[in-house]
Amino acid sequence: MITKPKGTYDLLGKDARIYNYLSNVIDNYMDNYNYDLIRTPIFEASELFHRSVGETTDIVTKETYDFKDRGDRDITLRPEGTAGVVRSVIENKLYGNRNDVLKYYYLGTMYRYERPQSGRNREFTQFGVEAFNSDDPMLDAEVISVGYNLLQELDIPDITVKLNTLGDLESRKNYTEALVKYLKPHINELCEDCQRRLETNPLRILDCKYDRSLEKGRAILDKAPRINDYLTKESADRFKQLQKNLTLLDVDFEIDPNIVRGLDYYDHNVWEYVTKEGVTLGGGGRYNNLVETLGGPHLPAVGFAMGLERIILELNKVIEERFIEKQLDVYIMSVSEEEKLTALKLAQEFRLNNLRTEINTANLGLKSQFKIADGLKAKFLIILNNEDLKKGLINVKDNVTKEETKVDEKDILDWLMINI
Ligand code: ATP
Ligand code: MG
Repeated sequence: MITKPKGTYDLLGKDARIYNYLSNVIDNYMDNYNYDLIRTPIFEASELFHRSVGETTDIVTKETYDFKDRGDRDITLRPEGTAGVVRSVIENKLYGNRNDVLKYYYLGTMYRYERPQSGRNREFTQFGVEAFNSDDPMLDAEVISVGYNLLQELDIPDITVKLNTLGDLESRKNYTEALVKYLKPHINELCEDCQRRLETNPLRILDCKYDRSLEKGRAILDKAPRINDYLTKESADRFKQLQKNLTLLDVDFEIDPNIVRGLDYYDHNVWEYVTKEGVTLGGGGRYNNLVETLGGPHLPAVGFAMGLERIILELNKVIEERFIEKQLDVYIMSVSEEEKLTALKLAQEFRLNNLRTEINTANLGLKSQFKIADGLKAKFLIILNNEDLKKGLINVKDNVTKEETKVDEKDILDWLMINI
């Protein structure tokens, strides 16, 4: 037996229907906020991720799927969505000469070589939002609230936005120096990854789940200097403005100085959407320099990404069956050749008129067909029989009240439309 690759999954039954439901909700919802859908390739030149996500990040050092294609090009399956969107904005010059905000959302599969566990796969889906061409905290507030309100619309309870700022370049430089100075004497008490990060990506140490799980590591990190004390006035003011905007929008947020996010390209505010059990459903931040880093103009931007599979795990706890339960409108029963031909023809007519219809295409007896129709929760049964057909009549049974009616064959579609 050939099995699926480690870290992938088959979406079946209710989960598959929730996935569809979710992507429909997202499409309608993003339309209200006036964001356009963007679809970029699932694989890109490896260099794109090295230059954007960052050479020293976990994603690039440990998690990418890299390969050479048959033309000897270095290709990477996308581990996240922002890099591709930014590449597309630059390559297609989507910024043009405009001064309004460019707003995109995407929904697609991402690939990371990780240790699979609940809510962590090697192939997974992200919904993400990117808005370009404004540095105004009003836009940050809009983007943060897009994600927050979506989770509210989906009735996922008690979401908190954990918010932090990394400040501008100057604030970050001063803070990083202070952090390194503080951590150096403790280097041997940190995990191996963090010992390396002290050289390459010190801020990321604050976010180390492993060190935080150990008493000693936690004690060291809890006493570390805080970014707040190193912000330039401009950065501090901007952060205050953002909080004011979020309060206005009723976003439930909480400042968490340990949120630094794994990616290199963020500056100013970063945030995560966290459930009350502490599961992170998504996160994002402002990235004012990424477009330039990738060869485009100066185009400040802000965005976030959420994992659909993690949302589906949450929805599974709260979603009402009736939203996603499949119920058949009509099951048409047939046994004889003439009944089968009528069933085939009627089913097509019903289906093309939006009635969810099933027929017996497996040559089953009547008793089995009754069972199957019940299993599919058919609202109506059409029990064809040769004698009625000769008189041009169709025998319909309401599968709830069990009431039976004979309807003229030419009126059956109208009759069903009225009665369903
Ligand atoms: P984590 O700390 O959980 O590894 P991350 O910081 O790597 O998350 P991001 O790159 O910010 O995650 O991705 C945003 C969201 O995408 C995550 O909050 C999560 O919901 C989802 N996500 C990330 N990696 C995976 C994965 N391997 N499997 C499923 N969902 C994922
Ligand atoms: Mg990760």
